[in-house]
Amino acid sequence: MQIKSKVSKIMVLILAMTLVLTWFSGCSQNAENSYKAGTYTAEVDGHNGTITIDVTFSESKITDIAVKDQSETSGLGDAALEQVSENILSEQSLKIDTVSGATVSSSAMLAAVEDCVVQAGGDLSMLKSGNKDSATAETKKLEADIVVVGAGASGISAAISAADMGAKVILIEKTGVIGGASNLSWAGKFVDSSVAIENGLKVDQEKMITDWIENNHWRVDSAAIRQYVAKSGETYDWLAEKGYVTQFINFAGEQLHMLPDYGTREASYKRMLAESVESNGGKVFTQTTGKNLIVNEDGEVTGIVAEQNDGTILEITADSVIIATGGYAANAEMVKENFGFEGINGGLGQNVGEGLEMAWEAGAKIPDNLGGQMLHQTLARATSNLKKEYEGFKASYPMMLTYMPTLMNVNTSGARFRDEAFTLKAVAAANSSAFNGPYHMVVISKAQIDALAEEGLNGIEAPGMPGMPPEFYLDFIDEFTIDNPWKDADEIFDKMVENGDGFKGDTIEELAKNAGMDEKVFVDAFNQYQEACETGLDTAFGKSSDFLVSYGDEGPYYAIIAEINNLGSVGGLLVNTKFQVLDDDRVPVKGLYAVGLESEGVLFNDTYVGNGVGIGYAFTSGRLGGESAATEVLEK
Ligand SMILES: Cc1cc2nc3c(=O)[nH]c(=O)nc-3n(C[C@H](O)[C@H](O)[C@H](O)COP(=O)(O)OP(=O)(O)OC[C@H]3O[C@@H](n4cnc5c(N)ncnc54)[C@H](O)[C@@H]3O)c2cc1C
Repeated sequence: MQIKSKVSKIMVLILAMTLVLTWFSGCSQNAENSYKAGTYTAEVDGHNGTITIDVTFSESKITDIAVKDQSETSGLGDAALEQVSENILSEQSLKIDTVSGATVSSSAMLAAVEDCVVQAGGDLSMLKSGNKDSATAETKKLEADIVVVGAGASGISAAISAADMGAKVILIEKTGVIGGASNLSWAGKFVDSSVAIENGLKVDQEKMITDWIENNHWRVDSAAIRQYVAKSGETYDWLAEKGYVTQFINFAGEQLHMLPDYGTREASYKRMLAESVESNGGKVFTQTTGKNLIVNEDGEVTGIVAEQNDGTILEITADSVIIATGGYAANAEMVKENFGFEGINGGLGQNVGEGLEMAWEAGAKIPDNLGGQMLHQTLARATSNLKKEYEGFKASYPMMLTYMPTLMNVNTSGARFRDEAFTLKAVAAANSSAFNGPYHMVVISKAQIDALAEEGLNGIEAPGMPGMPPEFYLDFIDEFTIDNPWKDADEIFDKMVENGDGFKGDTIEELAKNAGMDEKVFVDAFNQYQEACETGLDTAFGKSSDFLVSYGDEGPYYAIIAEINNLGSVGGLLVNTKFQVLDDDRVPVKGLYAVGLESEGVLFNDTYVGNGVGIGYAFTSGRLGGESAATEVLEK
């Protein structure tokens, strides 16, 4: 007994000491920093140019962050600057998460404040260590009919349609931004929408369905494709009724619908969510990451555990969870493993596959066609460095040439690998390049650069303007004409080489050497190409003689490094037409739904070949998936 009481006394003492130590360590973690009060200025490189900020300090706090100058992407980069600065001020910390698809802008803001902290004599290590303490994190228990995970176009639509049917919905979003990749997108396909029909463009739906299935080698869900073709048109009206009006465009026979102005989208989504989800007793939590699904002993999904940026844990029980987390394109390892692609992630930086992992762990099937990606745009490696010194038009010279069918394209060995007319179609261009290695090169001669300087794109017999996405040339749309001379073209291409973003050689042999190609492979390919230009007959790839333009016989020659942009992974969860997630036996996992990119593998086999389907399917699958989850819940 005596021993026992001694042990308990010692334990009380240890406990007391631990509490005291915890108290002290807590104090030191949250201790105030000290600064030389005043306002300090920093300049950093953002996504589109220099960002200038003023940071004001009292003796113990960062009291204000003012952005003086910036040219970040409207509605995304600028929103990220605001969000990150708000978080720095509220948390008095530099251990702040970056924002949705705006990692560069977010990191630039953090770097700028860091610079000012140093100028103000503050303790950076204290600010960077953060003040989250997981041991004392609060856990909140919440209840809903349906939890939607991810607030991109698909998650927003699912939350709204479920709420409109009467379900109490909680929508959780990892970042501070509502809208996901739709905030960056141009247009969506809503097949035979009322506005397309009004404009006299109707498609043969049966032919569209048959071709679609055939073009994907039948390794797709025919019912899902039929549902999308038949029902996506209604999505146009559904969105319009909610005040989200898209504008029809007949895009070479494709029924595309341009999304509202970039800068207005997030506000529209927030209003739509307030009118449906919040007015029906639901809630939207941003900066809240879905971590694990809650699964009962019968294997049914009954909720989700999520973590907020301040460390608070939300344990949300619900009848259904809808996964709308946008895939894993930002998880380079996962993309490489499943698709062999090592190019650029042009999708959202936060989409790392958490939704898929959660669902697979809860019993969802890993589909046989896992791996598909949305390879969609060609980029020139030179652009971002050139943008630091030149305005958009000049900085985009190399990129514009990557969209030209009249120039020779070679892979890293120096071998020509395609009919360059593929560059006229985004998906063909992107996939044929990616199949040939991490990047390809576009060859141009000094003589052609001189011709560009004199006559613009007419100088290289361009058949039209480069088919780049409109957002790539919005800031120089007035200069984006076929006969606008490319001023300082010489200087720009030399700068590209100087920056290490392209290659130059006085002769073809020297270019091969400098670009790391196999000399024989490149010289043979070049000579064969030149011969094709003379005879008008491309025996290697059958390119039309219209696009066979000779390089002449004089150097120097340049090679532009062209890279492919992956806009998102496609698929990862197998769903039926109610968007219920299926298990290994192709039976629904009770309580689990998936919409948007996470479920898009039912439409495409090994790669995305749609035009506007990304957006069309995100809104449509969300609208239908939300309805079907709500129907199941409310029928209970
Ligand atoms: C630059 C760009 C341009 C594009 N242009 C077009 C176009 O013109 N036309 C077209 O049809 N398609 C286009 N696309 C593709 C299209 O935008 C997408 O297919 C579509 O928006 C995907 O919607 P989603 O809701 O499935 O995913 P997302 O929009 O990616 O939304 C997923 C959301 O989930 C959140 N999230 C991720 N993990 C978690 C987690 N663990 N917990 C909580 N939230 C999480 C993310 O932050 C994100 O907000 C483009 C894509 C990009 C990147």
